[in-house]
Amino acid sequence: MVSQAQILQWVQIFASEIEQNKEYLTQLDAAIGDADHGINMDRGFKKVMSQLPTLANQDIGSILKTVSMTLISSIGGASGPLYGTLFLKASTVTTGKQELTTQELFQLLQAGLDGVLQRGKAQLEDKTMVDVLSPAVAAFKQAVEEGKDTLTAMQQAVAVAEQALENTKPMLAKKGRASYLGERSIGHQDPGATSCYLMLRSLLETIAGDR
Ligand code: ADP
Ligand code: MG
Repeated sequence: MVSQAQILQWVQIFASEIEQNKEYLTQLDAAIGDADHGINMDRGFKKVMSQLPTLANQDIGSILKTVSMTLISSIGGASGPLYGTLFLKASTVTTGKQELTTQELFQLLQAGLDGVLQRGKAQLEDKTMVDVLSPAVAAFKQAVEEGKDTLTAMQQAVAVAEQALENTKPMLAKKGRASYLGERSIGHQDPGATSCYLMLRSLLETIAGDR
């Protein structure tokens, strides 16, 4: 089970991970984009943090919806609408809920991935957020089908995400600004895939109760 308080904590941990990795994400984007991914994400999540007091007593769907709306209105570039859609779709499958079963957490993650796919139209191996999200959600799904608990499923998803992030390095970018570089995008880790990894690792930390 994942509680409403844990969802709030997830958002907080992710926001602080973004803050701590702002320079790193921006450096990754400097190599194959326009050096703003860390800046974009940090701007959005600082806005989300300022909304946090208003979310204390809301259900999980409402929390995720506010996160979505805040990101869409405060992050420019590709990642604003993509993360905005991820959290919007995640909110629609968690409306009115105060806690989530492992199956419901899977639905949240799957809906988020589906939102990114619908919005960005990226395929696997296009060197985007999808290259971390998709294998991670598949690993979570498999763990659920094997009857694993939430923590174990999330540990497996994050382990897969870590390898998947590494796997973005040799990919040739086919979406977003990095695609303008063609062959020169090869050899660099994708910034959006990196922030997605941080998002999943933050969720694991929350579930594990590490903070
Ligand atoms: P911008 O590219 O507009 O400067 P950001 O730098 O904030 O936006 O985000 C770049 C990241 O967005 C990329 O590293 C990539 O992971 C992700 N991205 C770009 N286009 C897509 C897409 N169509 N589908 C999924 N992810 C995408
Ligand atoms: Mg950028």
